[in-house]
Formats: sequence, C-alpha cells, structure tokens
Amino acid sequence: MRILIVEDEVHLAEALTQILKKNNYTVDAVYDGESGLDNALSNIYDLIVLDIMLPKMDGISVLKNIRDEGLSTPVILLTAKGEISDKVAGLDSGADDYLAKPFATEELLARIRALSRRKGEVIIDNTLTFGDIELNPSTLKLSAGSREVKLILKESQLLELLISRKNATTSKEIIIEKLWGFDSDVEYNHVEVYVSFLRKKLTFLNSNVKINTVRGVGYILEGN
Ligand code: CA
Repeated sequence: MRILIVEDEVHLAEALTQILKKNNYTVDAVYDGESGLDNALSNIYDLIVLDIMLPKMDGISVLKNIRDEGLSTPVILLTAKGEISDKVAGLDSGADDYLAKPFATEELLARIRALSRRKGEVIIDNTLTFGDIELNPSTLKLSAGSREVKLILKESQLLELLISRKNATTSKEIIIEKLWGFDSDVEYNHVEVYVSFLRKKLTFLNSNVKINTVRGVGYILEGN
C-alpha cells in the first residue's frame, strides 16, 4: 500500500514517513500543495494524508482538484485543532476523514487501516432501504429514484445507524459512540455537521426521507 504525505512541516512529514514505513507502507512525502497535487494525480497512491495549511496551494484546493479529476483516492485531512470550519470545508470537498493536530500516531494508523479496509472490501450487495432511498454502505452510494449521490464514510455510517434504528430516536451520544468510539473527544457540533450534509444530499435526491430533529433528544428518520 502506497501513501502520499503532503505536509510542509518537514519534521512532522519525516516522522510520519518513518512510522508508516515501520508499519510496512510505502511512503512518499512532499512539502507543498502543488507538488502534492502533481503526485496525487499520478494516481499511484492508495491513500493521501493531506495538511490544510500548505505553501503554493492549500490542502482544500488540492483535494477539490483531486476530486474534480475523478480520483476517489481516500484522503485524510490534517487540521489545526479546533478549526471546525476547515473540517466542514474539507469534508464538503470530499475528504474521507480528518485528524486534528496534534494527534497520536496510533490514531493516524487506525484511520489508515480503517480506510484501507474499506478500499479493499469486496463489493457485496448489502443495500439498505428506507422510504424511497437506497443506501449501499460498501460503495457509499445513496440513491432515490433515478438520482444518486456518493456519500463520505461518516455520512454513510450515520445514515446506516439511523436506518437501523428507524423507529427510535437516536441521540448524539449514541452517534458519537458508534461512529467515533466511546472515548473520542468529538463534540456534538460534528454530529450536526454530518446531519446537515446528509440533509443536503437528501434534498438533492428529491427524497421524501427527512432527518427530523427531536429537540434535546436526537434525530429520527421520517420516510413518507
Ligand atoms: Ca501546514
């Protein structure tokens, strides 16, 4: 598995390169956005670790370019801690995951393993339906009628969870535990961000499915 690191903090890039190599990944590191985009477009990478604040071209622009070129290479964005707007912009631009700096290398390795498992997955038909929507968690495709959108991993996981609990209200605590793990430091506003992404996509699909907010409790799907 070949990983591209795009990070202008050379010490961090080198440290990550060492750790990933120790874990049997093949790694290339570049230190600015333009080189990152050039390398990424070669399409030889299985995963890209992309910093946001970069010289020459910022990470969000690099990511948008990669997706505009039709590449679906999984991307983990590195954000400065607390920059929620960066995270939102990143996820909106097609990032698969993000990690706030400073992070534990174990955490990065875990995210890489999770994304590579998904990439290597055999695509089986495990489509879930609710109302007029169909979700395929393997391909991350969500469709209604003749329209289809691609979800990012967390959106798919969130919708899967809501569908599996379709007659019950799902609290933000449960969503965080299921999607990020029990001891994560993810906050409620992250959940709200993903819910708003999903609502936009449902609107785009012209679906009759709605994610209703149960004030002070959580969310419940409505499908008729
Ligand atoms: Ca940087």
